[in-house]
Amino acid sequence: KGPDPDLVAIVERMATVKHKILVLSGKGGVGKSTFSAQLAFALAAMDFQVGLLDIDICGPSIPKMLGLEGREIRRSNCGWIPAYVESNLGVISIGFLISNPDEAAIWRGPRKTGLIKQFLRDVDWGELDFLVVDAPPGTSDEQITIVQSLEATGIDGAVIVTTPQQVSLIDVRKEVSFCKKVGVEVLGVVENMSGLSQPLSEFKFTRMTETGEQKDMTEWAMSYMRENAPEMLNLIACTEVFDASGGGAAKMCNDMGVPFLGKVPLDPQLCKAAEDGRSCFSDDKCRRASAPALKMIIEK
Ligand code: ADP
Repeated sequence: KGPDPDLVAIVERMATVKHKILVLSGKGGVGKSTFSAQLAFALAAMDFQVGLLDIDICGPSIPKMLGLEGREIRRSNCGWIPAYVESNLGVISIGFLISNPDEAAIWRGPRKTGLIKQFLRDVDWGELDFLVVDAPPGTSDEQITIVQSLEATGIDGAVIVTTPQQVSLIDVRKEVSFCKKVGVEVLGVVENMSGLSQPLSEFKFTRMTETGEQKDMTEWAMSYMRENAPEMLNLIACTEVFDASGGGAAKMCNDMGVPFLGKVPLDPQLCKAAEDGRSCFSDDKCRRASAPALKMIIEK
């Protein structure tokens, strides 16, 4: 039996890609796509030629996070053409191909893995410094397909995104074991939604009245602070939202011998930047809360 023609074609296709980074998570909803999108934005802002490949069949959210909703895949003689945010940031998402993601979520395995292989084989990225791959959550057949298909082309490693709670960390352990088993280096683990971080000046304040209603006190609180302690308006209020008494991702990384990359707080402005399809690095409000943390992680 000769070599698998799909694999040969993938190796050929990936020959023009210098670095391949997988973004993984044990669960959905922990911020894997948000991190992938912001990583791609940041690398592009550093003048690298970047491709972002979204093969999260369970819920492709990359088109929205990159401001490319409603795009469809165009084809040329050389293959599928990415949608470009900037000339050095090209994006391909399963979301460009399927109008109804709910339908894809119930596809049977072979159909999903077939589509993933096609994405790896047929996209005409051209020369890339980095290909960021937003993979499906968990350790499913789809993930195995991605790793097996890319292995021969050399994967630089995986970044695993998690939230601080035990329920999410248990799945990250599985993810780390998966990487070790298939020989993919864990570049590190990012703890996302690690506490809520918000400038005091953006809070809404309320007071419970005697009749149990919430009375808006924002204007009162703001003018009180402005008059009596204006420096308070520069403070960032931090709240632990999830129970991280078990030591969070940092302890788990220590136990498992993989690098801990850092914590990104829950930041309403980061969520908004993602909804609007923008980079959080260009957003003044994110710059105070989540952007510095993300920047440190990406530089690592
Ligand atoms: P996943 O890819 O793991 O399923 P997403 O990246 O789609 O998760 O994130 C789920 C939701 O949480 C999105 O609406 C996203 O904008 C939001 N989100 C992710 N990380 C943060 C954060 N640090 N602060 C605020 N919102 C966040």
